[in-house]
Order: sequence, then C-alpha cells, then structure tokens
Amino acid sequence: MIGIVAATAAGRRAAADLAAAWPGRTAVYDGPVAEAVRRAFAECGQLVCFLATGATVRLVAPLLAGKAEDPGVVCVDEARRFAVALLGGHAGGANALAAEVADVLGAQPVVTTATDAAGIPGLDALGLPVEGDVAAVTRAVLDGSPVRLDADRTRPLPALPPCVRADAPAGSPVLRISDRTGGPDRATGGGPDGASDGPPAGGPDGGPDGGAAAPAAVLRPASLVVGVGASRGAPAAEVLALVRAALADAGLSAASVAELSTVDAKADEPGLVEAARTLGVPLTTHPAGVLAAVPVPNPSAAPLAAVGTPSVAEAAALASAPGGELLVPKRLSTSVPGAVPDGRAAMCTAAVARRAVRGRLALVGLGPGARDLLTPRARAELRRASVVVGLDQYVDQVRDLLRPGTRTEESGLGAEEERARTAVRLAREGLAVALVGSGDAGVYAMASPALAEAGEDIDVVGVPGVTAALAAAALLGAPLGHDHVAISLSDLHTPWEVIERRVRAAAESDLVVTFYNPRSRGRDRQLPAALGILAAHRAPGTPVGVARAVSRPGEWHTVTTLADVDVTTVDMTTVVTVGNTATRRVAGRMVTPRGYRWQQ
Ligand code: SAH
Repeated sequence: MIGIVAATAAGRRAAADLAAAWPGRTAVYDGPVAEAVRRAFAECGQLVCFLATGATVRLVAPLLAGKAEDPGVVCVDEARRFAVALLGGHAGGANALAAEVADVLGAQPVVTTATDAAGIPGLDALGLPVEGDVAAVTRAVLDGSPVRLDADRTRPLPALPPCVRADAPAGSPVLRISDRTGGPDRATGGGPDGASDGPPAGGPDGGPDGGAAAPAAVLRPASLVVGVGASRGAPAAEVLALVRAALADAGLSAASVAELSTVDAKADEPGLVEAARTLGVPLTTHPAGVLAAVPVPNPSAAPLAAVGTPSVAEAAALASAPGGELLVPKRLSTSVPGAVPDGRAAMCTAAVARRAVRGRLALVGLGPGARDLLTPRARAELRRASVVVGLDQYVDQVRDLLRPGTRTEESGLGAEEERARTAVRLAREGLAVALVGSGDAGVYAMASPALAEAGEDIDVVGVPGVTAALAAAALLGAPLGHDHVAISLSDLHTPWEVIERRVRAAAESDLVVTFYNPRSRGRDRQLPAALGILAAHRAPGTPVGVARAVSRPGEWHTVTTLADVDVTTVDMTTVVTVGNTATRRVAGRMVTPRGYRWQQ
C-alpha cells in the first residue's frame, strides 16, 4: 500500500488526484502531519509526502530502521513540479515510484541514486541477493576504476560497465558471482590464501607486505535446488539443520537456494512448509511417477513403499533443475550432529542440485524508426541485455539507450541466418541477449530464424513492435478498418509463383493488402504485376496509400488510386496499401468501412 500524506489544501488536492488515479493502491493519512507520517511509515511499503523535503527528513529521521526495512519515500512539492525520491531508492522502490508519481501529476522525477543517474545497474538492483562490501564495490564501479569480475559461470545479467572485468589488476575490488562460499568476504589481492576460490594471482603482488585486502561483494545467483524428503511429523528444525549442513559442508550459499523440492504427497508436510518459509523460498512438488523416472545415484526401498518412488530428495532436486547436476547426494538428518535425538531414526533426507544456466533471448521490435514509437518494454529489454545483436543500422538507432558496457554484435544486410545463430549461441552460453529488428521482430524479420534454431534450454521473451503496416496506416487514415493481409513482394526466398497466387487470393477475397518489400533498384517488376492482379478485381479509383520512411527523416506519403499510382515513388523503405472495394477517400484520407451493417 502507498501511504499519502499532505499538509495544505494544494497538497490535499494533489493527493486526491493520485488516489483517484490508483484505486486500491493508496491510503490517504489525514490529521496532523507528524502523526500521519509516523503511521504511514509503520503501515505502508511506500510513502508519497506532499511536503517539503526538509520537513519530511525531520519527520522520518527518528523512524529509520535500515535500508532493507524502511519504506521508499517520495516527496512532491505543492506546485507539483518535482517528485523527489528521498529514501529507499532501490530497496524501497522510491526511484520507480517517483517516476510513476511524476507521470500522473505531470511532474519531473528527481532521482539522485548514483547508479541510476549513471545508467549503471546498482548491485542491489540486479534482482539477486548481494553480500559483502556492496558500497565500496559500487563506488569503484561508479568511479570507473577496475573491478575484478570473478564469476563461476555466466548467468544472464544485464551489462556491467567495462571497468568490471576478469583481468582487472590484482588488488582491485572484487565482484564475485557465485553460489559458493569459501572465499572470505574481503578477498586479498592475490595473496597465497588457498581458501579463496578465485583464480590464483598471476603476477607478483603490488605491495611489499602482501597488499591490503581489497573490498569484495558477492552476487548470489538463484542457482540451487534442495530436494527434501520427510517422514510424517518431521520437525522443521530437523529439516532446516539438515538443509543448512548439506549446503555448508559442500561450500554452498543458502542465499543461492531458489526452491525446496519434494514429492506431491508431502506438499502439506508442516516441517517442510515451515522450513521453506524460513528460508524464504517456495516448496515445489512433483508427482511420484515423475520422480520414479529420474535416474539417481542412491535409490532405496523405504520411499518406494511409502510414497511410490525409490528416491525423493535426489529425484526432486534433479526434477526441479532440468539439465542440472547433483552437487550433494542424499544425506540423512542423522549425519548432522545434534539434529536428531540420540537413538531416534532420521526423519528427513536432503540432496542439492545446481540448475543448468539458462540464457535469455529477447526478440525486440524497435518500431518503424521514431524514438517515441519504441515501446517502454522494448527499452527495458534493451537495458536488461548484456549483448545486443542486430543489423548495424538498427543497433545504431538505439545505441544511446544501452547500458554502458553492453556488447554489440552487428552485421550488414543479408546476414540474417548468421545473426539469428549468433543470438541463439550467445543465449545458450547463458547471456542476456536482445535480438533487435525494425518494426515488429516477428514480421518478415529475425524472430522466425532465431526460434527455428532455439531449443528448450533458453528462455525466450518477445516484445511486440509497431510494424510498418500499422505505422503507415496511421498516416494514411484508416485503411485497415476491415479484413486485411500483408504480402511481401521479395522473391529472394519465396518463388514468384507463390507470391502471385497469394496476391490473387487476396484480390478475389476482397482483402485490403499491404505490400512489404515492394520494390528495389534491381527488383522493379513485382509491384506493377501485383497491382495488375488487384486491378482485375477492383475499380481503377480504388484508393492506394504509399508511405515511405514512416516516422523517419524524409517521411513522405500520398493517397492515390490504382489507376494513378506511380511506382517510381516506391522504394525498399516504403509500404503500399491497396484498399478493398469498399475503401473510400474521405478528405484526402483512406477509409475502409467496418462493414455495410455499420454504415446504416
Ligand atoms: N519487421 C519489419 C518489416 C521488415 S521487412 C516491420 O515489422 O515493419 C522490410 C520492409 O518493411 C521494407 O521493405 C518496407 O516495406 C517496410 N518498412 C519497414 N520500415 C518502414 C518504414 N519506417 N516506413 C515504411 N516502410 C517500412
């Protein structure tokens, strides 16, 4: 809930506007402001205060508990000019809230968190738990000084700035991405410390006495699954002691556990439910039949009799981590000192698996050209990626939107197959990849060759874009008001006979037709032929819209007719939309009625 506090009449009006815009999301706190702020701070996840920043600082100061607990606080001035993210920019969501409030009130969001302002993801905003000296490592990143990246395996993270790299000099601050413990929180700059699981130092140490300890922060990927089995009534404490020991003895971090996993029959077993809640992870379950089919190193007769599978812990861990590896084979709770009273049999088993790395492939349509026709979701995916793959001119179009350090893989016209393969290969390596294309990435574009290559081993996200036919239609009027079809006139990959057959079918069924790839210097025969086929079924006065370079520099369009269309005005950055037999020209615009019944 978002608590809203206001002190003056103007503030209360703005508060009411915000509350009206977000029904069910807000609670307005009336009365004396000091008391209102105190109550809202205690009861709400976020606050919007229509108060001066100074007043708000004084009121919340005595209430502060810590970054992880405090709500995000946004201050708005009475004139509604600024929405200031005052407190809890990342953890409290105040930066994002300031942007939302600004949208509603027509204000300017003010965000001072250094990582946001610099376009660099805060280490605490990557969606992963982070430990260690986060402030020092973040500062080094912001300063652009070298930070040594020490990643077990690549996970699909957004781009990290170029100063974060595997070969940064010894003694640099360290950013680890790992589900393993073992390294001390403050890694030495290449000292002889054999306990560190970082790579051994290459050269001689800079400092005469072994060098000062460098600050280190560790990001914990959600990479581990703990499979658990429990007899009826197994105490949560026994489950937790076993899970924690299984992780600790294998040098694995509990912060990287993504889920506990067991058999369906144990979905409501209180000890398991409670243990999952304590660890802050979901308890997932699988049917016994599924678990029985998972090959495991240590099957046994007891669970087979009780729940119908020869393995619960190992099989559930592996079932929740397809393609992953078993790191800790089955352990009984009696193997943990003190977990089980003397003489009593073990009531639980646990095993740990590591999920296979799953890369992320986003298929991102950039729209026809203009920046404001690029969707916010496309923008977010571009900033989520660490590699952007695309035709050079499209990558150029969005270069300023990428995070510093984003790798780009650009290629020229015609290299579609190779671009698609590159994008899928990089995603398979575990990276966050955005494959970009103009308009919609699935319309005569890269999505199909990419997905023809992609397997189940990567996550795929599609972001729709405004395709050329729609951008052109908006310029031409309302040509697509009834059934319509898109036909590409490029016979590079499709035989002309097939294209011709489709144009004829469209002509016969009276569909509005938009031609993509209509005409190029070496390919000028197709458009007149296609228009000829349509002319055999439609009157010479049928409206035709020609739209070139829509929403780009040099944009041009005209509404003409089948009889008068001048094909020399058409090139490869043009779409041509031909109306159906009902399409009319009204005030210079192309209008296709929604149907005869509508017109009466
Ligand atoms: N994926 C793109 C289409 C790629 S095919 C989309 O969804 O829009 C390339 C063809 O699209 C071009 O030959 C042209 O016919 C059309 N096109 C793309 N952008 C255009 C624009 N800005 N204005 C007019 N036509 C465009």
